[in-house]
Amino acid sequence: MVNPKEWLEFGQKFHGHKCPAMPMGLRVGAAAMNKLGVERAKDGQLVAFIEIGDGHCATCFADGIQVITGATFGKGNGIKTHVGKWGVTLVDKTTNRAVRVAPKGSMMAKSKSSIFFTEYRQKGIPASQVPDEIVDSLVENVMNAKDEDALIIGEIFHYEYHEDPHTFNTAICEKCGEMHVVKYGAKVNGKQYCHSCAKELIPNL
Ligand SMILES: [Zn+2]
Ligand SMILES: [Zn+2]
Repeated sequence: MVNPKEWLEFGQKFHGHKCPAMPMGLRVGAAAMNKLGVERAKDGQLVAFIEIGDGHCATCFADGIQVITGATFGKGNGIKTHVGKWGVTLVDKTTNRAVRVAPKGSMMAKSKSSIFFTEYRQKGIPASQVPDEIVDSLVENVMNAKDEDALIIGEIFHYEYHEDPHTFNTAICEKCGEMHVVKYGAKVNGKQYCHSCAKELIPNL
């Protein structure tokens, strides 16, 4: 069983500031892992479909998911689905099982109506400049809420995740000398170029 509290300090260090959304990611991620009975993904054993989009509040949530599950944007097994919600479907590739966990709307609303948001974040004050006495209680609320008060934990379902194997096919661009992934570049007059250099030769590439 993974305990989200054991990841809070590391999560805040990685994330950069204290806020309630990153810890909510720890809670959701931990609940999904514990439901599936899986360990943190050292490689790509788990895939997390994270329903957030871009440019909206509480996207910090995704950092909590990445920290606790090890399904990260860097490894490619943390994937945004751009739905504008905070649900996460965690897939265990080794057993083809998945579960969706989401924070309860009431729990998110509680954080959102707090003065952390109304007096600071919505007025453009960065989270790192919000006094500890304001944000600490919010973090504690998220970390200490019972699963049944904070989370919607779905049932396990069968899910086969198919992906193309990662390509190792890279080349040095004949113009800029930088390494690039061949499928993103182009061959022009027998020479291999990266995407940016090929675009100079073939503008509508
Ligand atoms: Zn944050
Ligand atoms: Zn180039």
